[in-house]
Amino acid sequence: MKVLVTGGAGFIGSHLCSELINCGDEVICYDNLEDGQIQNIQHLINNEKFKFIEETILNFEALLESSVDVDVIYHLAGKADIVPSVNNPKLYFDVNVTGSFNVIEAARANNIKRVVYAASSSCYGLVDEYPTTETCALSPEYPYAQTKLMGESCLLHWGKVYGIEVNSLRLFNVYGPRSRTNGAYGSVMGVFLAQKLASKKFTVVGSGEQVRDFVYVGDVAKAFMKAGKCKKFGEIINIATNNPQSINHLVSLLDGYGVEFIPKRPGEPDRTQGDSTKAKEILGWSAETTFEEGVQLILNDIDYWKDARVWSSSEIKKETESWFKLLGKNE
Ligand code: UDP
Repeated sequence: MKVLVTGGAGFIGSHLCSELINCGDEVICYDNLEDGQIQNIQHLINNEKFKFIEETILNFEALLESSVDVDVIYHLAGKADIVPSVNNPKLYFDVNVTGSFNVIEAARANNIKRVVYAASSSCYGLVDEYPTTETCALSPEYPYAQTKLMGESCLLHWGKVYGIEVNSLRLFNVYGPRSRTNGAYGSVMGVFLAQKLASKKFTVVGSGEQVRDFVYVGDVAKAFMKAGKCKKFGEIINIATNNPQSINHLVSLLDGYGVEFIPKRPGEPDRTQGDSTKAKEILGWSAETTFEEGVQLILNDIDYWKDARVWSSSEIKKETESWFKLLGKNE
């Protein structure tokens, strides 16, 4: 098959490109290298089945041209991180909504059979249904979550009307080698790994007893491939382990230089735990890597974060000021 991966030089996208190449697919990696990094795909550059296009999904003409004769589009390009989404919602709307619209319009124009979307489990917000199923009420708490959800709904709707086979994967907390180091405050793994390398204390939010459904990136890449080939489509599918882990457990596995507690953030759930039954039924997928194994794989590759920004508690306080101000009033 010939496939196009938007955001292919990003954290999850680069793992997906590798897996697709290993399975014999011809891969076009489409990435503007804003959050993605060329070193993430360096190992693929000379592979004859791999082609890299440095472009943004906001350039519709480029998308159209790049996706001619493609069988599947894996749409992973998007703006991540909460804080910048609160400060600059237009940028998030442009990339996550208009960008997704461009992708599905390119798919429509080029008669592409299937599109798989990287959606976010942040659409569930502060839920009280655990494990959280795909039919749970939605409550996005910040523009990142809202715009990712709007992207999902656009793709599924276009799929229904124009006969494109769309599947949307709602990803829980994806972690693993090459998780982003773009300088934005976010993703606990990147924050903690940089702190460990700098011999600084881990900035633990709240009590650290909150739990997250961490899913290993290699497993997530496999879920995408299955969603690109499975018989069913028009589906929203959680990609989760249903086995959440506490931040304190992560702290103990990372074995760093002590902890410093920082305030709990508004809009932040104490628990994420995705029901993964549908993933098993529809994709035949379930997570294979245990949390302990996954964290060890990250630690084996810790040098990747040697130039990542090291966040101190006072810098985090400053960075999250607008988050506390705007979202705190809803609590
Ligand atoms: N977290 C933390 N210290 C940090 C950043 C995050 O203890 O410096 C915690 C945070 O409270 C949350 C978990 O790590 O419970 C995952 O946070 P992340 O921002 O990676 O993902 P999300 O909150 O979106 O699930």
